[in-house]
Amino acid sequence: MSNKRFLVSLVFLITAFFSYGQHVHDKNCGVSVEDQLLSEMLHPNDFKGDISSIRNNTIYVPVKFHLTANDDGSGRLDYIHVLNQLCILNRDYASSNIVFYIYEGFSLINQTNIYQEAGTNRNAVQANKDGKAINVFITQNADLDNNSSGGTTLGFYSPQGDYVVIRKQELASLSNTLSHEIGHFFNLRHTFYGWEGVPYNKQTHGERVTFTTVPGGIANVLVELVDGSNCQTAADMICDTPPDYNFGLTSSNCAFNTVVFDKNNDRIFPMKENQMGYFQDCDTFKFTEGQTDRMLINYNSTSRNYLKSTYIPNTTEITDAPILNTPLKAEKLIGYTDVKFDWEDVPGTTTYLIEIKGSNQYYSALTTLSEYTAPELKKNNTYFWTVKPFNDGFGCSPLTTSNFRTGDGTSSTYDISEIKNIAIVPNPVNNSTTAQISLFSNESDNAHIEVISMVGQRLRTFTHSLETGQNTIPLDTKELSNGVYMLNIIVNGRNSFTKFMVD
Ligand SMILES: [Zn+2]
Repeated sequence: MSNKRFLVSLVFLITAFFSYGQHVHDKNCGVSVEDQLLSEMLHPNDFKGDISSIRNNTIYVPVKFHLTANDDGSGRLDYIHVLNQLCILNRDYASSNIVFYIYEGFSLINQTNIYQEAGTNRNAVQANKDGKAINVFITQNADLDNNSSGGTTLGFYSPQGDYVVIRKQELASLSNTLSHEIGHFFNLRHTFYGWEGVPYNKQTHGERVTFTTVPGGIANVLVELVDGSNCQTAADMICDTPPDYNFGLTSSNCAFNTVVFDKNNDRIFPMKENQMGYFQDCDTFKFTEGQTDRMLINYNSTSRNYLKSTYIPNTTEITDAPILNTPLKAEKLIGYTDVKFDWEDVPGTTTYLIEIKGSNQYYSALTTLSEYTAPELKKNNTYFWTVKPFNDGFGCSPLTTSNFRTGDGTSSTYDISEIKNIAIVPNPVNNSTTAQISLFSNESDNAHIEVISMVGQRLRTFTHSLETGQNTIPLDTKELSNGVYMLNIIVNGRNSFTKFMVD
């Protein structure tokens, strides 16, 4: 109780004494100097710990992704971007031996106040937290206040609330913003700490920066020197990150051409590709070993016990793109209801994401099966569908997209009731002999039969008169090269697909 009160008054003091004016920024991270100080007060031992015992262990960190939307459910980011984000996050933290995984599925929140103004509705955000994971809220907007004078905030970590907010555009554009914010979560400062609101400016600060403390910034933040003599107390207090006076804020294309010296007359070369800097558009961004150590100490502290468990997520690398079976590529379906999607199992996969996109229509679903039946589609409409396999700990898997067109028939497209028990014998078939199709028909009818390659080429077409009862139909498989084929039996305008192999 008394501790808490002390903390609150200290925060107030810091804010009251050292607050600085609002500066116009273009894009930035919403973590202020005060936030970083508060984070350090909340994790007071992060500068003292010893990580030698855990440095080589892989750490699995649960992440709860909250995909927020307006009250009516509109605006939510597609799952596919979250999977891509998981891929980026794990790539960025690979050298730190930290693996992030999706904790117990995705959280979907329909709340306009969070989606549009998470920065000013912090209690609402807080109420949706999961107690067993890093909470990442994906919103339309991450600005800290309602006026735009502070520029665009890409994301922020709230030390009070212990959660991350990131605007959805950052995920869609494959940026490193979430990796940066999670660096703050693990108690990393900006490499240019102290210069947040007062980035280096030649006119104000000179070609040789002679100030001892950051001019115009929060009081008593030391200006870091190139020779490392004050690296333990200046800026981020990490010695393998070189001085940076927030040069990145006004930079573009990962470029730094400014000639600037510290007070010893040593020329300053910031680490442009550091995750905790503000340079943009670098090919890769990295954490240094010193930063990794600091993060591991934070993870190891008791305040992060809620992240720890003996659970090891499935991180199997998925390298095969899914093979999509039906609908066939460019197929014209008879109907538009009960369209059944089917694809091959992909090794190592626990969950598939399927997306179906048509004009003004978008569906997505997660399934553990390699098939899915769509909700009602539109008549006579072109659709693209995509399948992406993934695991809770692996989002870098390739995806496959195909297309088809719906018809206006109201009947089910597949699983013709007139025929059943379709089999090809033998399967795999041999390409020097003739195979047989065996099926049971409820009535006598004409069947149109096609053999289709996996790229949609029709290689055989013929008709056959079905008799009521069991039918055996010869199938010419000579000269079909080895591979997978689709047999399509069309009765009364409806398709029934069966796969077979030539080997
Ligand atoms: Zn930041």
